[in-house]
Amino acid sequence: MSQYVIGIDVGGTNVKLGVVNVKGKVIARSSFSTGAHVSQPAVLIDALVQAVQALMAARGIDRSAVAGVGVGLPGLVDADKGIVRILPNIPGWLDVPLRRILQRKLRMEVVLENDVNMITLGEWKFGAGRGVHDLVCITLGTGVGGGLILNNAIYRGPGFAAGEIGHAPLNEEGPACGCGGWGCFEQYVGNRCLQKNAAAAFGRKDISLEDVYRLAVEGNKKALGFWAVVGGRVGTGLVGTINILNPSRIVIGGGVAGSFDFIRPAIEETIKRRCMKIQAGMVKVVRARLGTDAGLVGAKVLVCHDK
Ligand SMILES: [Zn+2]
Repeated sequence: MSQYVIGIDVGGTNVKLGVVNVKGKVIARSSFSTGAHVSQPAVLIDALVQAVQALMAARGIDRSAVAGVGVGLPGLVDADKGIVRILPNIPGWLDVPLRRILQRKLRMEVVLENDVNMITLGEWKFGAGRGVHDLVCITLGTGVGGGLILNNAIYRGPGFAAGEIGHAPLNEEGPACGCGGWGCFEQYVGNRCLQKNAAAAFGRKDISLEDVYRLAVEGNKKALGFWAVVGGRVGTGLVGTINILNPSRIVIGGGVAGSFDFIRPAIEETIKRRCMKIQAGMVKVVRARLGTDAGLVGAKVLVCHDK
């Protein structure tokens, strides 16, 4: 029986790799900087192959012990055909048949998935989403990502583009968004906006979101108020999704989730006040549990078809 899955999490800055065991634990890991290998896809692919082989060799893991390799990528991925359609933040990736290439070079089964879907799968089976059949996972960072588990399966949509909660409009007007729309959820809770709001609130251009978190821990009223406003906005951004999908759980991950304790009351209050009664009564808002391992653990879920 195969004991391990190799998870790969390709990010705009770093590529993370991990050996994941049957219990969803990452037992070995490595990483390298994406930047040095982005000149063309073939260069990054070669670096991936070498990193997988080095990690397996370092742990003395034979190919026969590996059920497969799961790769999470920051962009549009055709998970059925194993083709990377486009990676907006990594130049040169357009319709790359990555699954076929990696399977040939690694001689192991390979599956591809969008990175937020990978995180969603990991949290669902081994993290904050355990035991439910329907959940929505959002990641709060520079961008706001979303993943959907509906009826016990990841929901990708026919174009593999479903779950973009960050681009649900909160306003008829509002700031232009990179997606081509305007007034998107991401424009109100993405890091760039929060950073700007924090600088204005504290009258300090150099204040970081970590600083505002620390101030909140110390009980600073302005900082606590700042996170309450953020929580209210996150709640507002979730209302439509909760009413439409009636999920049992909302999992909140990403960098800003570090301030979860400070944003949760306002999220819950907003949901209670604005969602329809049945949906509001059933949904539980929780903080993601797997941190930066979630994508690697999701690879295990995807490769092994965990039910
Ligand atoms: Zn948008």
